Amino acid sequence: MAPQFTIPKTQKAAIVEKTDAPLKIVDNHPVKQPSELAPGECLVELDCSGVCHTDLHARNNDWPLPAKLPLIGGHEGVGRIVAIGEHTQSSPVKVGDRVGIKWLAYSCLDCEPCRKGLEQSCINGQYSGFTVDGTFSQYVVSWVTHVTPIPDNLSSAEAASILCAGITVYRAIKYSKAKIGDWIVLPGAGGGLGHLAVQYAAAMGLRVVAVDTGAEKKELVMKLGAEKWVDFRETKDLVKDIKEATDGFGAHAAVVTAANGAAYAQAIDYLRMGGTLMVVGLPARANLSADIFFTVVKSINIIGSYVGNRQDAREALDIASRGKVKCYYVTKPLSALSETYEGLAEGKIVGRVVLNMKE
Ligand SMILES: [Zn+2]
Ligand SMILES: [Zn+2]
Repeated sequence: MAPQFTIPKTQKAAIVEKTDAPLKIVDNHPVKQPSELAPGECLVELDCSGVCHTDLHARNNDWPLPAKLPLIGGHEGVGRIVAIGEHTQSSPVKVGDRVGIKWLAYSCLDCEPCRKGLEQSCINGQYSGFTVDGTFSQYVVSWVTHVTPIPDNLSSAEAASILCAGITVYRAIKYSKAKIGDWIVLPGAGGGLGHLAVQYAAAMGLRVVAVDTGAEKKELVMKLGAEKWVDFRETKDLVKDIKEATDGFGAHAAVVTAANGAAYAQAIDYLRMGGTLMVVGLPARANLSADIFFTVVKSINIIGSYVGNRQDAREALDIASRGKVKCYYVTKPLSALSETYEGLAEGKIVGRVVLNMKE
């Protein structure tokens, strides 16, 4: 028999009522009751939720597409399924299962992008903490076909940031065409996404050139498996230094998560013939400008990569559960969300912040 859970009527939640209003932490937000769930929906009691830069973009309404309002942000949640909508057919998960909620909350599984495995670009997609309420609350409603089972040997806090930052960089490296022994450049290697990218790349047998700044980040990325280090503040010629670090020919791939266009244009210069630029950052407004002549004569590939599908999510979590990738994070209560946003805006957060929903 499925375990029974007591579900309260109200919960703690962090709510954005208007873009320019301060974030409101309330303890009387209604919990959708099991009888109110539609077929295919599930109710998840959250242990924790990671905080991602995307949440800040959504909160500030930075993008060409507006977020829903009022909004509960968050898309790196981990918790237990406590109810599944009546009349749900052939659910791949059951009540009591520990699951993750990622950015892509729902896809139709039937449009052309979905049929081709590009669920994240589904024309009917729903996004956690953007088009539907997300994980900065104690309970969240999601879909049984899209929640991600969490491996037993990965704690909820460890799994949280893999669900967005981990999946994003894992998929970008996977589709970069880089093979064992190839050089990959990771700008921002010491940051939230970067430090996970270094570990995934190393686990996949790639040789990592880490680009970032400062002794602390250098020590971290070298410990995590980077082979070469270029400090972008100290270097006089970044392109030359990267070429020298990669046998003189340049790197086979670069995964660029930066918010400014310059980092992307630079990559065209330090990639070798046939190299691949993976475009991953989601800046509010920036253009990608590439030298057409060299893009053509060097046979450069430029590929956009957006989070990941259900399979990418399972693979990224599986690699982490086998100890190959560890996220550096600090845990805080939900009430610390405003100060976390301030820290993110100022670039002061080292690693990731995971909010404990049980506090
Ligand atoms: Zn994210
Ligand atoms: Zn679709």
